[in-house]
Amino acid sequence: MASTTILPGPYTVQWDWRLEGACRDVPSDTFYHPEGERGRARANRERQAKEICAQCPVLVECRNHALNAGEIYGIWGGMTEGERQRYLRTVRM
Ligand code: SF4
Repeated sequence: MASTTILPGPYTVQWDWRLEGACRDVPSDTFYHPEGERGRARANRERQAKEICAQCPVLVECRNHALNAGEIYGIWGGMTEGERQRYLRTVRM
């Protein structure tokens, strides 16, 4: 039988922080790159997303979720996919 001390908490408690996200009413393509996006277009989109994240009251919760859950795509907590990968490589060394 699983130990109740290590089971995740109720779903709504785990995800309530998302209701406070500054991106809640922003189109998701601001945070997720389209197929083949590169160069200046990608840099501009990422900068725009990061500016929204910088104003977000749940940036820490969002970033922690993305790092703990291993979110592969998108900007979470003000970090790009590449930034999260580099950070996780650093802390796992
Ligand atoms: S930190 Fe960024 S991606 Fe996360 S909830 Fe806030 S605005 Fe959205």
